[in-house]
Amino acid sequence: MASDLATVKIFAVSATPFPPAISTVALERLEALYRDVDAAIAAAAPRCELSGRCCDFDRFEHVLFATDLEVAYLLARTPGADPSTSALLSWKPDGKLCPFWKNRLCMAREGRPLGCRIYFCDPSYRDRMPEIGEEYQRRLRTIHDDLDIEYRYAPLVESLREVHARAEG
Ligand code: SF4
Repeated sequence: MASDLATVKIFAVSATPFPPAISTVALERLEALYRDVDAAIAAAAPRCELSGRCCDFDRFEHVLFATDLEVAYLLARTPGADPSTSALLSWKPDGKLCPFWKNRLCMAREGRPLGCRIYFCDPSYRDRMPEIGEEYQRRLRTIHDDLDIEYRYAPLVESLREVHARAEG
């Protein structure tokens, strides 16, 4: 699967491509990172009651961030997420909600960024969450540095809004 997803569409609206092109090695490094963080979270075993609070940015005042590389990975790994053809174009990007949040569920589980994976509202996980966050954010930073990809860490919904605007041209 990785090879045919080696390059994510580059939008020509601006001189700076966004999201950045994503190489096979970047895909593999992020895949390994997400596999490891998922294992760390499984070991911490935070409780999820499927309340949908984690993504209900309108009602709960928190914001999930992602790097540009993570946005590229999210689009590469989410079926139908190519913004030139899809859901992102029918999205009304005027609110705070993520376009992949449907019926209070994430439709982008495979490609979702680190922040989406780490955040749980379980109070008993409150101390462990920042520890896991810091460790894996450091690893994410290393991937950017090793591959010489600019590290821009921005609210996910704002980045997707930028993808949407560029796709509309
Ligand atoms: S990618 Fe999924 S988990 Fe992350 S904000 Fe969007 S719907 Fe929520």
